[in-house]
Amino acid sequence: MQILDGKLASKAIKEDLKNKISILKSHNKKIPHLAAVLVGSNPASETYVASKVKSCHEIDIISSLFRFEDTIPEQELLQNITELNERSEIDGILVQLPLPKHISEEKIINTISPGKDVDGFHPVNIGNMVLGFPSFISATPLGILLLLQHYKIEISGKRVVVIGRSNIVGTPISILLSRNADYGNATVTLCHSRTKNLRDISREADIIIAAIGKPKFVTEEMIKENAVVIDVGINRVKDETKKSGYALTGDVDFEKVAPKAGYITPVPGGVGLMTIAALLTNTYNACVKRESLIIDY
Ligand code: NAD
Repeated sequence: MQILDGKLASKAIKEDLKNKISILKSHNKKIPHLAAVLVGSNPASETYVASKVKSCHEIDIISSLFRFEDTIPEQELLQNITELNERSEIDGILVQLPLPKHISEEKIINTISPGKDVDGFHPVNIGNMVLGFPSFISATPLGILLLLQHYKIEISGKRVVVIGRSNIVGTPISILLSRNADYGNATVTLCHSRTKNLRDISREADIIIAAIGKPKFVTEEMIKENAVVIDVGINRVKDETKKSGYALTGDVDFEKVAPKAGYITPVPGGVGLMTIAALLTNTYNACVKRESLIIDY
């Protein structure tokens, strides 16, 4: 069994981006600039945004954090997003989800200019991705592709089972892996809460991607020998031994599944770090390819 180390793979991507940004600097070109929008003070969101801002800093991407009270009216937030769209020095906009209940996430996402939508959630980007046209690819699916690429894991012709059909992970990764493109050409089955006989289906998979949000959902009986196991889940479970009072656990029962797997991602230290590396990649591309809006991976 080999660990798919998100720390190592994301470090390589970040170093590559840092080099590219130093070239931009030496040619007096524009440096990528990410605007991060945080509404309220959800502890998980605070942590995610802080690590995204820190990662920008590490590779010399400029970042600006825009914080708003969780009572901000929807209209006011929409107005702020519109202003960020219009600011030419800003290349990418990320709005940390979830948003407070009185704000429509759909409206906010649809207001971000597709050319600055570095999270790849805008319908224009999703549509272009589905059709195989250049687009921003959602950060987590792109992070998974970059991780598979880093470890040179063959995808073409493989059987992939994705568990979870969210718009930000399960659905886009299943489309990406089945496209007739580099890092595609797999035969993909997308499973969800209504899937019957999930265990029988998942045992057929050469590659399993778990994005469910249920701790230790994937057990050793659900995978075949030497399968590649990608754990997207980030679940906070009570842990009195930790200072914070909780530990992070994936959707895969790592201890039991790892000995049977060929490759497996840890949580933390796997897909989460790759998601950030993908966000930085999108931000860099947003800056250098902005004029033409050609984002091709
Ligand atoms: P979600 O929470 O929107 O949806 C969960 C999906 O799981 C649904 O499509 C549902 O059909 C499926 N599901 C629920 N119960 C099931 C069952 N019993 N059998 C089969 N399928 C079932 O999904 P999400 O937003 O993709 O989040 C999933 C997990 O991934 C969460 O833990 C989340 O925190 C994590 N996540 C991690 C990253 C990262 O960067 N690592 C990014 C996004 C989400």
